Amino acid sequence: MTSVPPLSLAAIRQPAFLYGSDGRIAEANDLAEGLAGRPLAGCSAVDIIAIFGNRHPDGSRFTPETLPPSRALAGEEAVDVPIVVTVAGGRVLHILATASPIIDGDMICGALVVWQDVSALAAVCAERGRHGQLLDTILGTLPCRVSLWDRDERLIWTNERFAAERGVSREALIGRSWRDLEGPMAVVEPLIREGLQTIMTGEMVIREVQTLDANKRGWRACTFLPFDGDALLVITEDITQRKQAELDLAFQALLLDRMNDAVIATDTALRVTAWNRAAEDLYGWTAGEAIGRLAREVTGADVSDGERQEHLACLNRGETVQHRVYQRHRDGRPLIIDGRSAPIHDPAGTLIGYVAVNRDVTERERLRDELVASEEKYRRLFETMNEGFTLIEPILDEQGAPVSFRHLEVNPAKERITHRTREELIGRDVRDVLPDMEPCWIETYGRVALTGEPAHLEEFARDLGVWLSVDAYSPEPGKAAVIVTNITARKEAETALRDSEERFRALYEHSKDAIVLVDPRGGGRILSANPAACRMLRWTEEELIGRSRDVVLDLGDPRLTAMLQERGRDGVASAEVTCLRRDGSSFPGELSTALFTDSRGDPRAVVIIRDITMRKAVELDLARYAGSLRRSNEELQRFAYVASHDLQEPLRSIVSFSQLLARRYQGQLDKDADEYLDFIAEGGNRMQALIQDLLQVSRVETGAKPLEPTDAAGVLAGALRLLEVPIREAGGVVQVDSLPRVLADAAQLEQVFTNLVGNAMKYRRPDVPPRVHISARQTGPSWWEFAVADNGIGIEAEYFDRIFEMFRRLHTHDQYEGTGIGLAVVKRIVERHGGRIRVESTPGEGSTFFFTLPAA
Ligand code: ADP
Repeated sequence: MTSVPPLSLAAIRQPAFLYGSDGRIAEANDLAEGLAGRPLAGCSAVDIIAIFGNRHPDGSRFTPETLPPSRALAGEEAVDVPIVVTVAGGRVLHILATASPIIDGDMICGALVVWQDVSALAAVCAERGRHGQLLDTILGTLPCRVSLWDRDERLIWTNERFAAERGVSREALIGRSWRDLEGPMAVVEPLIREGLQTIMTGEMVIREVQTLDANKRGWRACTFLPFDGDALLVITEDITQRKQAELDLAFQALLLDRMNDAVIATDTALRVTAWNRAAEDLYGWTAGEAIGRLAREVTGADVSDGERQEHLACLNRGETVQHRVYQRHRDGRPLIIDGRSAPIHDPAGTLIGYVAVNRDVTERERLRDELVASEEKYRRLFETMNEGFTLIEPILDEQGAPVSFRHLEVNPAKERITHRTREELIGRDVRDVLPDMEPCWIETYGRVALTGEPAHLEEFARDLGVWLSVDAYSPEPGKAAVIVTNITARKEAETALRDSEERFRALYEHSKDAIVLVDPRGGGRILSANPAACRMLRWTEEELIGRSRDVVLDLGDPRLTAMLQERGRDGVASAEVTCLRRDGSSFPGELSTALFTDSRGDPRAVVIIRDITMRKAVELDLARYAGSLRRSNEELQRFAYVASHDLQEPLRSIVSFSQLLARRYQGQLDKDADEYLDFIAEGGNRMQALIQDLLQVSRVETGAKPLEPTDAAGVLAGALRLLEVPIREAGGVVQVDSLPRVLADAAQLEQVFTNLVGNAMKYRRPDVPPRVHISARQTGPSWWEFAVADNGIGIEAEYFDRIFEMFRRLHTHDQYEGTGIGLAVVKRIVERHGGRIRVESTPGEGSTFFFTLPAA
């Protein structure tokens, strides 16, 4: 019995036939019966062939046995069997039939046949035949090998390229097996299998394989395409060059990544195309982030448009550009970059981009800047420091001992110290430049340079006349750096301090005055006392120290209180106070005191006490003596006055009576008597003159009137009137300048003028008429100096003082009459007015008397 498999063909969207185990159609779907144009149930393989005229694509007929359902019923799976059929309406269809056995347990109980209409594909294939020639031409010219292989790996078709590669005609290649043609390339073995697999699966496969042609390594790209179901189209392309380039690129990329410099490539639009690891590190952008962006975006380049254009113009001319640019890390950190840029050209010479190799010099620049700044700092220090600085190099003798040195470097301070310029010093043997330099310097510097041991010394440089403090060290073998400071001022100050200390110490130790140092705070504690203080006050220094000053000063003395107040106000004070000895006895002391601050800032007072017991006694004696002197002087003056005044009267009698005697008896007595009478008269006259002059002297004090503003010119005129006779007799000339008003006793001033002008007439030169010139000039705001100048005999300098003494005369009475009192009177009067008198004279030429009077 025919068993019908439980299948519904209506669901199949292709023409489908279900055969029973008897080889007849049990069921066909609509699509199948539509093609047949009739019902098909019950039809056998023979019937089907009758209906559809089933044939192979090459036109040969199917037999009932070769028909796919027959094969399926025989247990075979017939897949995609190409069949050409003629369907209802006479249309010819290209079908791919697939027949599968239907198995029930161990039994084949039927077969399912499904047709796939591939007529459209067949039409294309037919078309290919028509255009075959054209395709051939196209494929032939392709730069790759195109070959078509059958299932048995035999070449069905190839383009011209393959033949050309092999150097044979295409016909010679057709029919040859793959293994035969590609055999030597063992590497293609797996490909063949894969290629065949392609035919099975119908998928396209592309593989790149390495080849070894005539020992030349090469690369092929093979594309496997299933063709027409049972052929394999293989497109083989020689990619050796591309592969090599890729390898080169990979190698370069590796190199780039190993480079420490950032390498950035861009296209001509300046978009990044390559970005190595160093670039990632430098800018903080990964290659993935950087590539495709504008270079300036990821390098943070701070470049003006103008600069960029100029830069690009150079690159576009094919030049390599070296540049220092300021860029930024992604985090904003500034970078200083030294870079080189170059254009990139393709093999044909077309510009395709640029490459830059950038090196980060930020740190280096920073260090350089720091170095420059520190160098600058030290240079300035070097230039401006007060210490002289030199670098020297010793000059050695044959035994290697330093005999001199030369300066390698000197600063301005050193120039000042040596009074030599840099140009004079540098490079020259110091013995030539500073010939007076003492050997100890050469020896010291030489030792420092040779042993490297530093040296310090303070020495007086005799040649330069200054004290120097020297520090020498060796900055490198064979050289010495010397820092020299002129310490003359310090040394002098030290010496001065020492001297002053010594002086003070000597003063302190040996002074006759007591010197006590006191802390003025509180009760005035005594801090030290000198030996004189101990002697004077009768304490030992140990006993005095720590005691209050009260033990040596009488606090009850009001002068002490006043003095301490004055010291508080002015810092210094002195007074006579009562001082105390240890035994309580007192003595008068002259006390001087001054406040000062000691080196620790504490207030101190120095108190100097002079014991004036003796002086006080002497002063007392003196005062007493002065009083008695004054009294006796007054008595004497009174006596002189009275004497001269009272003597005048008897003298006048003597003179008048001797004149009377002479008049009456002259010539009547003997010759001697006449002479005696003359002597009496002359003696009387001289005594009268003497007494007149003595009266003048005593009147300076007794007849004195108060000083009043007085017209000196008027007073002088009065004096000249009194002297009219002697002046005329002498033939004298008196010249008077304008004279001032002065504070004077007019009568006494007249006496001064009278005496001086009178002397000028008296002490004239025998043959020279006397000339007197009286003038005055102001010598201060309140003083006038008068000058009475004559052209007389003059006075020897040794007598300039003595002529003002009473009774002092330089001449005998025979030569010049006089008493020797005139100038003494003048001096007294001038001094009574507070003025002074002096004389200047050249013997034989004349004298000038100068005296001063207060201005009115
Ligand atoms: P006297 O003229 O009475 O001798 P003075 O006291 O006037 O005394 O002078 C003292 C001395 O000074 C004079 O003896 C005279 O030698 C000298 N003497 C004074 N005036 C002049 C003068 N103008 N020229 C030169 N000698 C003078």
